[in-house]
Amino acid sequence: MPPDKPILLGIDLGTTNTCVAYVRNKIARVVPSDKGSLILPSVVAVSEKGDLLVGNVAKDQMVVNPRNTIYGAKRLIGRQYHSKVVQDIKHYFSYEIVEGPKGESAVVLAGKVYSLPQISAFVLQHCKRVAEATLGQEIHDAVISVPAYYNDNQRNAVKEAGRLAGFNVKRIVNEPTAAALAYGLNRGFDHKVLVYDLGGGTFDVSVLQLHGNVMEVLATGGDTFLGGVDFDNRIIDYVLEEFRNETKIDLTQSPIAMQRIKNAAEAAKIDLSLLSNVVMELPYIIDRRGKPVDLRIPLSRERINTLVMDLVEKTFEHVERVLEEANLSRAEIQEVLLVGGQTRMPLVQGRTHHYFGKPPRKGVHPDESVAIGAALLAESMLEIDSVTLVDALSMPIGIAVTGGRFRKIIDKNVQIPTQRAFRLPPPRPGAQLELDVFQGESDKIVDNEYLGTLKFPAEAAGQRVAFNLDEECLLRVTIEGVGSGPREVMLATRDTPDALKLAWQEEAERRRLLEERTPPAEKPRGLFASIRKAFGGE
Ligand code: AMP
Repeated sequence: MPPDKPILLGIDLGTTNTCVAYVRNKIARVVPSDKGSLILPSVVAVSEKGDLLVGNVAKDQMVVNPRNTIYGAKRLIGRQYHSKVVQDIKHYFSYEIVEGPKGESAVVLAGKVYSLPQISAFVLQHCKRVAEATLGQEIHDAVISVPAYYNDNQRNAVKEAGRLAGFNVKRIVNEPTAAALAYGLNRGFDHKVLVYDLGGGTFDVSVLQLHGNVMEVLATGGDTFLGGVDFDNRIIDYVLEEFRNETKIDLTQSPIAMQRIKNAAEAAKIDLSLLSNVVMELPYIIDRRGKPVDLRIPLSRERINTLVMDLVEKTFEHVERVLEEANLSRAEIQEVLLVGGQTRMPLVQGRTHHYFGKPPRKGVHPDESVAIGAALLAESMLEIDSVTLVDALSMPIGIAVTGGRFRKIIDKNVQIPTQRAFRLPPPRPGAQLELDVFQGESDKIVDNEYLGTLKFPAEAAGQRVAFNLDEECLLRVTIEGVGSGPREVMLATRDTPDALKLAWQEEAERRRLLEERTPPAEKPRGLFASIRKAFGGE
């Protein structure tokens, strides 16, 4: 018998759910599971008995075991523990988030510390097992999607998760690009599409030009902290407030009550996509002086629309910016594709229709299109030249310079792969050759994400450094003139991002004071002097 043709999976590793697709006989399908399509809650838990649970079983026991149930890993993966974002959202999670050995965020599950790639690997491994069992053959390769807005650390962490799960990760693809592929492959289109992707935790918007099977990203943007959970949190806050007004009881101190409200808030939100009114009923939510107290709060579609209106408006600020960056008017967009579960909300659909003056495209399934696109891309990688993706960098990458400012090395929306090179400062006795690399939109490093520190050997002084971005938007830094041929310099973590930013701020302040007191001929020296001299515009 001829060996089975290899199957490659396309995996949409979502904040809330993970969806897996494959291609057979040129047709892309979502991998079926015993309960229908394989859309698996991205939840991992350890049961009271010590068993590892993944997916629905993990989600089902979340209410009774919130401390040992990890959800929303996509919001934390590849992020430094001390970063502002993690510190800001830490209290929204019912499990413990700690600092990992390299300063990254990690989680505690049944008393043991796990990295976020390990947690996501449990989900991916489960998908691999189900897909192998359903499709009847071993599977090795996968294309995994990530939000276009993910930075280098986050992309690497997802790749690592895939590897830990036993996959050969053929490629990391941006979710909107995958969605556009699911929509446009082999359809011979020649037009511009806007992908509006509002999922559980992230919002992504991209404008693409389709020319047949060439998909070119013109501009991309979004927010890694804007998604369905924020909608849920608005409902939760409203319910807590109503309950407090009615009973004078604060439920925030009860993790189990909070978990029940969280589940009920999401369920009510989903029901309100179809119905105009629901009643949230949670019997025996807490007891007061030995007597059970029930929660019963009516919710209308109108009410939740008011609660989340500003979140929806915020998505259109990103849309506006992306259109501006692509130099396009709303009217020049021929199709609007809605992706992500949260786009099922009538308010989101109505607002999109109103904004573009035409209804969004309904043909692409919001939950499945990214996985389908990833599977199509995986399959196309077996054939030469069948699909060309021209992606773009979603956030500038650069280095810290004088006064804690950010100097861009690679600009936003530059098409990838790309390379940008510059020279290190000439040799200087005692000066350290280090560059702190950041990614973000602000001209101050404090507001950007710290990617790591490049430590150069002394002989690198005066040599050419190249920042290379590959097609997966992963950064590789090489240096020439040290040994034979270009040599890769790895990004290392020097410090926590906050300590580092503080050091830069102190340096800026010290410099400001020195400048106030020093005659112009005498220039400050010190830790950052050589780099400042080369890049700081002194
Ligand atoms: P995704 O990350 O694409 O799986 O999207 C998940 C998000 O979509 C979650 O926040 C869900 O609560 C939300 N969602 C799913 N279905 C609906 C629906 N019918 N109406 C509103 N939100 C939904």
